[in-house]
Amino acid sequence: MNSKKLVLLLCLIFPYFSHAQHNHSQHNPVNCSVSKEAGALIKARLMQNRQLFDTKEVEDLVNKRTITYLPLSIHNVSGDASGTGKTPEATILAFLCGLNAFYADQNIQFYIHNSIINRVNTYIYNNAGSNTSANYMVSYKVAGTINLYLSASINNAGSSWYSPQGDYIMLQKNMLTAAAKTESHEIGHFFTLNHTFYGWEGIDAEADYSGQNVPNNIGSGWSAFTPEKVPRSGSQSNCNQAADGFCDTEADYYSARTNCPYNPTMKDPNGYSLDPDESNIMSYASDNCVTQFSTEQKTAIAVDIAARNWVNSSPNGTADVTGLTTPVSPLAGALLGPITNSTVRIEWDPVPNATMYYLEVFGTYFFGAVNTSTVIFKGVVYGGNAFYNLPTTDLVSGAKYGWRIKAFNATSTCAGYSPYYLFEASGAVTTSVEDLPIEKQMQFEVKENPVSSSFIPFSVYAATDVIGSIRMYSMEGKEVVSFTKQEFKQGQSIIQLPTDNLTNGVYVAVLSTSRGTLQQKVVISR
Ligand SMILES: [Zn+2]
Repeated sequence: MNSKKLVLLLCLIFPYFSHAQHNHSQHNPVNCSVSKEAGALIKARLMQNRQLFDTKEVEDLVNKRTITYLPLSIHNVSGDASGTGKTPEATILAFLCGLNAFYADQNIQFYIHNSIINRVNTYIYNNAGSNTSANYMVSYKVAGTINLYLSASINNAGSSWYSPQGDYIMLQKNMLTAAAKTESHEIGHFFTLNHTFYGWEGIDAEADYSGQNVPNNIGSGWSAFTPEKVPRSGSQSNCNQAADGFCDTEADYYSARTNCPYNPTMKDPNGYSLDPDESNIMSYASDNCVTQFSTEQKTAIAVDIAARNWVNSSPNGTADVTGLTTPVSPLAGALLGPITNSTVRIEWDPVPNATMYYLEVFGTYFFGAVNTSTVIFKGVVYGGNAFYNLPTTDLVSGAKYGWRIKAFNATSTCAGYSPYYLFEASGAVTTSVEDLPIEKQMQFEVKENPVSSSFIPFSVYAATDVIGSIRMYSMEGKEVVSFTKQEFKQGQSIIQLPTDNLTNGVYVAVLSTSRGTLQQKVVISR
């Protein structure tokens, strides 16, 4: 049995495959012919919407609108209460950033409605395409919002879709990316956009009509359709009604994932050569090809937003969040305790405009670098708090940990992550960083050793601002370079000292501060 027949059979077995179902990876394409039914519902709404507003009203919707805030209910589905298979919040924040970028030229701003909703549902986790799963997704919907279900759908993991019957979007976890191509495409379906090739689902036009004109009518019964013709106007054109109903999306007969550029050999019913637009997000060109909606598609989106009667709602936080943060407690390199308590507090400097923070705490390797595979905590801190009471269950006294923060609000999720800050778990009540031995407050390294260039690159890490000096001595104890009374800011500093006057050999560099001294051997070898 070839894979196309198998797919068709699966469609017959699972009646609820009547959603617009796609595979957006470049491998193992699945194109379910029944999705044409879902497309019919989508198209019916597109055509209804065209009756709602006159030309002037439509122009105003497109040209005069200010920013439109659209609430997303994000249902993050896992297979059990421990969160098996759920989508990492980092992935969600990254795709929201990409999604907003994709819709930015339409003045559309998606935002997180309240908070990300964690859903434990074994049906949706196992197979989001089942009838039972569809019923759950309908029942979980939050009215007046766009409902996005994120699921690993482990036994049916090949696709994402918009269900016009349920009016929700199911996004397969592995298809979520910072570029948000799948996400932008499915939301396009939500707003009445069909595929540019609508009608051709499950048909391999290149195999069936290679080098020929396609017929005027294809298929029979419910699936019969008239292919979109190539001319955009005149008596031979039907672009306003056929396929996706748009005249600025070229005729496209490719319903399988295709790389770009693609060069059709079949022609339209009147013998015109096809030149589909591989950059259109509603085509099935590969994700690296698709970059945009057409003008008519954008108009249809604006009209559907108006038709859905959504008020322009006010998210909690509309200003951009761009800043990083620095630790308040524990300061970098300090102790954190006592871990005999059930929680210890991690606190950071608030970031302007942030109403939420995403926090990660990891273990470290024995040599001190952060080990992201040892997860102590990952999650969103809601409520605007610039602190989190970290459970001490997984902390071991004397072990080092690294944490970092990404600040965001409901609309703005594009800020970067802070650097990792290290702390050491302690059984004792912790003291301030200045009371720690200098090795726990500062690091002093030569970035390149032996040194072959005309300067020595020193790296100084300071847990808090400190005044200090760097002096270099020959092996005979003679001071050869000095750099005195400098302020080392909290964090990492690179200091370059000239080596012009130094002969090849071994030297000792000493960093001295009021809190103690650190030293490094330096080899000059030019
Ligand atoms: Zn689609």
